[in-house]
Amino acid sequence: MTDLRRAADSTLAKKVNTMLVVDAVRKYSPLSRADVAKLTMLSPSTVSGIVSDLVRAGLVTETKGTAASVGGRRPILLTLNASASLAAIIDVQVARILYGVIDLAGSPVYVMKEDADLSSPASTADQVLRAAARALAKLPRASAGAAAGIGVGVPGIVDSRTGVILKSTRLRWANFPLAARLQREFGLPVLVERDVRAAAWGERCYGHARNVSDFVYMTVGEGGFGAGLVVNGKPYTGARMHAGELGHMTVDMHGERCLCGNIGCLAGAALASIREWKAGGADDALVEYSATGLVNLVNLLDPELVVLGGDIGGRPDFASRVEAVAKERALLAPGQMPRVLPSQLGDMGVALGLAGLVFDRFYWSHALAQDLPEMGERGGMSYRT
Ligand SMILES: [Zn+2]
Repeated sequence: MTDLRRAADSTLAKKVNTMLVVDAVRKYSPLSRADVAKLTMLSPSTVSGIVSDLVRAGLVTETKGTAASVGGRRPILLTLNASASLAAIIDVQVARILYGVIDLAGSPVYVMKEDADLSSPASTADQVLRAAARALAKLPRASAGAAAGIGVGVPGIVDSRTGVILKSTRLRWANFPLAARLQREFGLPVLVERDVRAAAWGERCYGHARNVSDFVYMTVGEGGFGAGLVVNGKPYTGARMHAGELGHMTVDMHGERCLCGNIGCLAGAALASIREWKAGGADDALVEYSATGLVNLVNLLDPELVVLGGDIGGRPDFASRVEAVAKERALLAPGQMPRVLPSQLGDMGVALGLAGLVFDRFYWSHALAQDLPEMGERGGMSYRT
């Protein structure tokens, strides 16, 4: 091995190790150096060196813990400097637009909600631009943090590589280059993501899936079913960005025609039971339909974890009933059913996922070194806890 090659290998190893340490601190802080070593499986001396660099760079701060250890000394805890960067986010839904500013630790600095203006596709777009301007105006001037970028989540088929909304039936947008428009207006990096994929990433950064590389985020709500898939630590989009159309899996070859043109879709079959639930009726049928969707996902993907979200799916009792039915039906060895947990991020799931995506794509690689690979999306990091 040449000296040059050896030097390159050691630089790369240091970068990868730095990413592992940052990822552990941002997901689990406050934590001690020993915790970081355990999570990353790096040696204590490697962790110590990297942490010193991060403290010097202002990304990590040290504080004295409150709990005294056996020797009576309080451990030094590491915390992410949450205000080192901020993300402006806009979550567009049919019922409302949620927008605001979120810090590196996933804490909302400012959040606003207003009714969505769906009177025309152009007026919805104008509302998104106004929301972005308001969010950016709320960036705290005194803080060292600057906006890393803008993230927008929408229902529909989104090409997240280009920021073009290919088709959103509910917002009546087609081939709409929203990212380019916002970028022109505000001069900041912009990403646009499908809402359910962003919500899945919210779980990966700040929710139940922080330690899980293969999981499914499934939503059950008034609008039907959706799925955000994370495979090998990366959001799974499919070749044409269409992956996750859970509501349109065929459950009855002789069923009714669905709005999508196919017959016997899960969404169409469950429509009456969603109406029944909305009218205050029982949700037993809806549990059955949700479990049907879940069993198909589990049989197809074998995820480690399923997180249920949405205004119906996120309720703890609903999730446990769906889990009980799915357990009976999934084709798994006994005891091998993945955990099914209700999301704890609630209405902020998409917003937090957008913030995580903005930081992963626009912040970390620049903050740590110019040529680091993107965190998270390519990282696929998980820990043995
Ligand atoms: Zn359909």
